Amino acid sequence: MAEFYGTWKEDTYVCDKCEWKGTGADCTQGEMFNDLFEIDCPSCKERVDVVLYPTIEDSRANWDKVSEEDKIMIQAREQFLNEAKTRCLESPEELPDVEGDNLIFVWDQQKGDTVISYGKEIIWREPAFYEGYSRFEEVAVILKKKYGAKLIDLAPAERSQNYLLGDSFSAVGTIQIVRNCLGLNEWQDLPIKNSRHRTMVDWSQVVVEKPNINKIDFSDSRSAHDLSKLPRLHSTRQLPEICSDDDLIFVWDEQEAVPIQQIVIRYGNDIIWKEFNYYECYNRFEPIAMLLQQKYGKRVKDLIPTRRSEINLYGDCKTAESIVGLVQGNLWMSRYTKDVGDITEETCKNNSGKNNSHNTKSSVTASLSTASDSSKDIKSGYKIYVEEDYWFQDDPELLSAGKVIYETYEDALRECKRMIDDFLIRNYKPGMTVDELYNLYLQFSDEPYIIPRGENNQFSHSKYAKEQCVEICG
Ligand SMILES: [Zn+2]
Repeated sequence: MAEFYGTWKEDTYVCDKCEWKGTGADCTQGEMFNDLFEIDCPSCKERVDVVLYPTIEDSRANWDKVSEEDKIMIQAREQFLNEAKTRCLESPEELPDVEGDNLIFVWDQQKGDTVISYGKEIIWREPAFYEGYSRFEEVAVILKKKYGAKLIDLAPAERSQNYLLGDSFSAVGTIQIVRNCLGLNEWQDLPIKNSRHRTMVDWSQVVVEKPNINKIDFSDSRSAHDLSKLPRLHSTRQLPEICSDDDLIFVWDEQEAVPIQQIVIRYGNDIIWKEFNYYECYNRFEPIAMLLQQKYGKRVKDLIPTRRSEINLYGDCKTAESIVGLVQGNLWMSRYTKDVGDITEETCKNNSGKNNSHNTKSSVTASLSTASDSSKDIKSGYKIYVEEDYWFQDDPELLSAGKVIYETYEDALRECKRMIDDFLIRNYKPGMTVDELYNLYLQFSDEPYIIPRGENNQFSHSKYAKEQCVEICG
């Protein structure tokens, strides 16, 4: 192994294979790597030695040997590094306090800067480095020192990845290991090793426990049937308003919940959607991403899975990860937008009233709390619930999401009847008996009811459905 500014150009080499003999300067340059390149025998291309690239310090120490061209490059690089150094995160004390228990930060890139954000909040900003995955690791360590067990992930946004990963083969692996380890609760006394250029965490010494895989047994038809009734995101109405002109980067995460683990879509501190999670749920990724962009328009730039959600999201499906990648690319290119973005922004302005539309955080909260307040205040109107809402009755936010408020009981009743009629007409096939249609209804319909209940005439969806079955089949 030769030093770049050493004597290898003058040294004599003998090829092991063809016995060619000559100086290093006569050799041809072979394959190039991060830290070194090969020099090959000019006659048979066999490798005769490797040469280490110089560090800036090496070049400075051999300044008289450096070409004029390289001197300009090195000086420019030094200037960049000096400027960068003044802006780079060095200690946990430089970071702001952040509220919340499950902190999932986004590693994003804006122009020449790396930006670490939590929802709308920008936690840190510094110059971005090409193939900056070792910087990713350094920053992750400092973030973990500051936020401890509360920090569970640092998720790179799609648009940051070209620059972050560069051409490096090891970059993806490094970032995955760092992200896995961020999820560990204890992250003190990390094993350290010294490489040629810097001190780094010795990841090979870090033990990461594999998370439990939460497979649902679909062979149990009953549980499959129950699951099919749990609410899923199917309409933009189910999502809260987010008033901001900034880019929106959402996080796809999961959390334990009763009766079943949930997929949660986060925007910083706010959970804007949750629905049931299952193994290999990657086919939910595109519909949800699409609705996010249809709701929030071109502002939506990414939906990033957390490390802990990847096991259920991808499962054993080999193509799942690339499907998710394609969807992220589509979000970035705004391919899911319908030309309704302006309407959403208009709604925002109306909802927030006098509020400055830049105040995203309070706007999200405002929109969610309006929804839950009205579910508590039964005098404010009538709402239709369906059987699947049962699962989320302890969660007023989710329960109220997308619910239409009817001014009078009669209005709500009319809508309930329409829903039932609609189901029966759609499912009726010529020749069906009353019982067949009615059983189908009991098994698969939404079973709507109205809250608060009417005064004397307690509406029974099943009684009404039975009457309609007789009407339709009879
Ligand atoms: Zn040779």
